[in-house]
Amino acid sequence: MNEFALIRDYFTRPKFVRKDVILGVGDDAAITQVPQGQYLATTTDTLLEGVHFLPEASPEAIAHKAIAVNLSDLAAMGAEPAWINLSLSVEQVDQSWLSKFSTKINDLTQYFSIQLIGGDTVKGKTAVTITAQGFVPPESMLTRSGANPGDWLFLTGTVGDAAAGLAFLKGQLEIADASASDYLVNRHYFPTPRVLAGTTLRRLATSCIDISDGLLQDLEHIIEGSKVGAIVHLDKLPISQALGETIPDLEQALTYACTGGDDYELLFTIPEEHRVSMETAMANYHLPVTCIGQITGAQGKIDLRLNDQAFSFVAIEGKGYQHF
Ligand SMILES: [Mg+2]
Repeated sequence: MNEFALIRDYFTRPKFVRKDVILGVGDDAAITQVPQGQYLATTTDTLLEGVHFLPEASPEAIAHKAIAVNLSDLAAMGAEPAWINLSLSVEQVDQSWLSKFSTKINDLTQYFSIQLIGGDTVKGKTAVTITAQGFVPPESMLTRSGANPGDWLFLTGTVGDAAAGLAFLKGQLEIADASASDYLVNRHYFPTPRVLAGTTLRRLATSCIDISDGLLQDLEHIIEGSKVGAIVHLDKLPISQALGETIPDLEQALTYACTGGDDYELLFTIPEEHRVSMETAMANYHLPVTCIGQITGAQGKIDLRLNDQAFSFVAIEGKGYQHF
């Protein structure tokens, strides 16, 4: 058995098996069945060492992030995840690394009730590509293009944490409190894809996107796609206790919250008539959501306010996340 056959061996016995997988790993292609009356959503993301994860990232963190970023994209479409394909590039075969990586992949497939149905391995710089697929009923899919003036702008969870965790890991941000640095570093390495929030928003949200590049940059995608504008109340932004305590300077904390990438929270718009239903559904699932502003008719314009006063950052150069 050659070394790459050995790698494949790690993935040929899926921990979670779905009934809609007719043929999984092991044949020339997987054969799967899309449920009748559902659309198939497909997304692909590559994580490259030195670009999307630090060289010292653990195999568990790399596996987690590779799955999380893809499931987050499905969540942003309102899709329920079903299957993943994995393409792995490694410089050499390190049994211990591979064992930890594949164990984490398998554990996550079980956690999210998804099945690994195929993949490939190549020799090269460490990189992980995952293609994730899921289902969404035709009338329920969420896009970036349905927001209307008057809709409320909402966000799940908190923003800025992952960027602060990364800045700490790179020695650019000092954090005295170990529990705060642990929290922020975990948010960088182990983001939570908002799968349940995504399906909960079906038929309620008029638009949705996941925060991968930074709040303002991703909001720009919604206002461009929907041909609208937005008001964002910066004083309403959900900032975690760890981030707030780490960065007492408000403008600096807001810079992380507005431009920090990799949070994988959902940013979405809700018409007034669905606001209470959405808030009730999210509360039932214990999913934190915050209203941060409103969609306007001022096409292409993002109006930032702090305590109802117009606000502009001096410190922001680009609006979004720059790959390191
Ligand atoms: Mg996305």
